[in-house]
Amino acid sequence: MKKRKRDRHRALFVRLSRHVDICLDSLRPRRIRTRSARYAAALGETLGLITRPRCCSWCRRHGRLQRHHWDYGEPLNVTFLCPDCHVLADGMVAHAQSA
Ligand SMILES: [Zn+2]
Repeated sequence: MKKRKRDRHRALFVRLSRHVDICLDSLRPRRIRTRSARYAAALGETLGLITRPRCCSWCRRHGRLQRHHWDYGEPLNVTFLCPDCHVLADGMVAHAQSA
């Protein structure tokens, strides 16, 4: 790996760990933690820690995919879903939280 590329990789990784710290910090407001979790997942994808499938993980439809978080305390644990399946998944999470 070239030095410049390695430096960029390291800088992104530092940023990732900072956002992981933020989203695990229960003293911070929820909206800040969810924002950091989403950002950490985006960085994880850039860094190759998460691989985006070619189609929706549930219905296998091709098209624009979204990262679904089951738990913002696990920022890199995401499922790639199409918008329709994402609505379903969010409904499940909301149901699980209210139960
Ligand atoms: Zn789908």
